[in-house]
Amino acid sequence: MKLSESVENKDAIAADQTSADTAPGRTAVTSETDPFAAANASLELASKWVDNALLMLWTARRAVETSSRGGAAGLSIDIVRRHFHTDRSLSAYSESQNISRIETRFRQMKLALMQSSSIFSFVDDVTAIENTRGIYDSETTVAAYAYSHGHIALTNKFAALGPNCRAAVIIHQLAHYIDPQVRDSAGSVGTAYDGLDIESALLNVHCYPNFAVNSTPPHLDNRYGMLKQAE
Ligand SMILES: [Zn+2]
Repeated sequence: MKLSESVENKDAIAADQTSADTAPGRTAVTSETDPFAAANASLELASKWVDNALLMLWTARRAVETSSRGGAAGLSIDIVRRHFHTDRSLSAYSESQNISRIETRFRQMKLALMQSSSIFSFVDDVTAIENTRGIYDSETTVAAYAYSHGHIALTNKFAALGPNCRAAVIIHQLAHYIDPQVRDSAGSVGTAYDGLDIESALLNVHCYPNFAVNSTPPHLDNRYGMLKQAE
């Protein structure tokens, strides 16, 4: 899943649905920051978090189907409901089916991570600003942005983020990548986030990295992302 310096290809950035992130301001890449090493380490960590998310979802689905609530079963149901509210179904889906819907999305992310060298690339500041114009002003560089089912671009700002924040950004962008309807819609904390139902949670991009981190031992509810850029 390694990125190399040869992967940047502006032609791959076709006009498609763009989703950009909330990261105003420029951050210089220092001489001790190797963006390729940083990105590859982030892909490894994001991959572990996605695997942990899939294990947590499988555990929760089995717990729901067998009416188990002790130990890992209870923990998994708590964590799934905290972020995706699978118990607040507005449709005919059962809770088990709702958990399956989330599993499908994380499996799509895992597949994308396995193809990361053809999906992720670095872009320079000029390209990043040009491609996100209309969303941000000409002085803003975002850490990363995604074209659904096409490409995820990492910018100079990405390399300057902390390791957990970078992995969270990767999963955030993957959630955009697999479904253009997934948006930055309800924030990553607060009453709007907690008030989501399963349908709105599936379309709120922040639910994916938050859930994946919370699924990772020791299961702390640490919400990494652009609000905590140094972590
Ligand atoms: Zn976003």
